[in-house]
Amino acid sequence: MQTENHLIRKPSLEKLFNYLIGNGKTIYAPKAKGKLVFFDNVTDFGEVTEDYIVTTNSAKSVVFPRTEKVFSYKKSKESTEIIDAADNTYPDVVLWGSRPCDAAAFIPLNNTFNEDYPDIIFNKRSQKVLVLSFSCSYSDDYCFCTSVNGGPGNTTGSDILFTRLSTGDYLAEVITEKGKLLVTENNSLFEPKPEESKEQNLALIKAYFNQEEIQTKLQNLFENPVWDEKSRACLGCGSCAYVCPVCSCFDIQDEAHGHKGTRLRCWDSCGFGLFTLHTSGHNPRETQGARWRQRILHKFLYMPNKTKVAGCVGCGRCSRSCPADINILDTVTSL
Ligand code: SF4
Ligand code: SF4
Repeated sequence: MQTENHLIRKPSLEKLFNYLIGNGKTIYAPKAKGKLVFFDNVTDFGEVTEDYIVTTNSAKSVVFPRTEKVFSYKKSKESTEIIDAADNTYPDVVLWGSRPCDAAAFIPLNNTFNEDYPDIIFNKRSQKVLVLSFSCSYSDDYCFCTSVNGGPGNTTGSDILFTRLSTGDYLAEVITEKGKLLVTENNSLFEPKPEESKEQNLALIKAYFNQEEIQTKLQNLFENPVWDEKSRACLGCGSCAYVCPVCSCFDIQDEAHGHKGTRLRCWDSCGFGLFTLHTSGHNPRETQGARWRQRILHKFLYMPNKTKVAGCVGCGRCSRSCPADINILDTVTSL
């Protein structure tokens, strides 16, 4: 649909939040915990903070939880009964306060979970998520969304994008039918579009590299000392993958109790030494350098080759959270 623009005043934003709560929605929004800000379940507008660049955790858990039941089973001598978790009713989730990079990350995530086989659980969860994002008015040295075809006011992946104006009110860009429905249901809160332009209220984020150029270069860099050099300090802790809004490696675990059990899907990471270890003892990615190479090639070469969308939205979370101070922007620019 064609984007519709409106003005919404700060008090009306709170009314919109309360409308969603009143209608039984589960809201995930940025919430301060000590010095950090996390996406968390909130029920009161007062709990939502505006003072963050990006949250420490990403928003991917609303469609791809850290641990998720795939199904339960019950065995008898004659048969095995499967209780399919995908038949369950998933909650109506509102993601409030996602940044444009968080919203854009749902595109590559969706590509991954529908690449060879549509992932029923992921798709059912995704259909029930409303993405209400807020543009970035400031950034830090870890942000590089403009290098990967994003930007501080990018609308990709959002249902509505709010941009704070100099008056303290917000421009509301309504991007999807889901967003339009919310506006229609709350018509009195939305006013005609403001005069002030969006661009003057956005953070200035330097473009450090060109994603298409990196994609071309990486085709010839499989054997390169940079992988070992850049990963030498890596502890293989997996923090970078767990905070990443696009990383989607998972493991399948069965928790069995006698004749009953549950099959679970749990986050995993290609940075872990055990991730590709074969039963024979052979590990095709034996060193941390080989694992770091896989991480970069997957995001900046294999994914865009397959789907035309990179596996990185430039949020900088992996670099901020790395205990060894390994910086993905530094790695990619050094290439
Ligand atoms: S967060 Fe840093 S140390 Fe941990 S696996 Fe990632 S790159 Fe390695
Ligand atoms: S790889 Fe790092 S910068 Fe890129 S999307 Fe993931 S966490 Fe963000």
